[in-house]
Amino acid sequence: MNCFSHNAAPAVGVCKACQKAVCVECSIDTGRGLACSPACEKEVGELNLIMDKSKQIYSIGVTSKLPHTAVLMYSFFGLVFCSAAIYQYATRGRFDFISSAFGLGFLVFGMLAYIRNKRLNLNC
Ligand SMILES: [Zn+2]
Ligand SMILES: [Zn+2]
Repeated sequence: MNCFSHNAAPAVGVCKACQKAVCVECSIDTGRGLACSPACEKEVGELNLIMDKSKQIYSIGVTSKLPHTAVLMYSFFGLVFCSAAIYQYATRGRFDFISSAFGLGFLVFGMLAYIRNKRLNLNC
């Protein structure tokens, strides 16, 4: 494969932004991929930023054993509402439908979030 701009020169790589072959003379090494022009150099920087942000958002490469934030949040609210319902029933002998519904609903959503994140191998 030869350079896209210099047909005689052999290509040393491919521009990370536009996928055109580049020779030694016109390639710009960004440190994390080659670029063919200053415009593509900017684009490569932005692509790298997108990848870094995605890795951060989905906690890719993080080996935390802590449960996912959504699971923690749903479980917390589920337990608070269930406790309130149990407390109402134990102290006043009254079945609190609203607290029970919220409590069980949050626990079910917590379980669904746990299963979904486990299946997608997400850690956020
Ligand atoms: Zn390019
Ligand atoms: Zn070239």
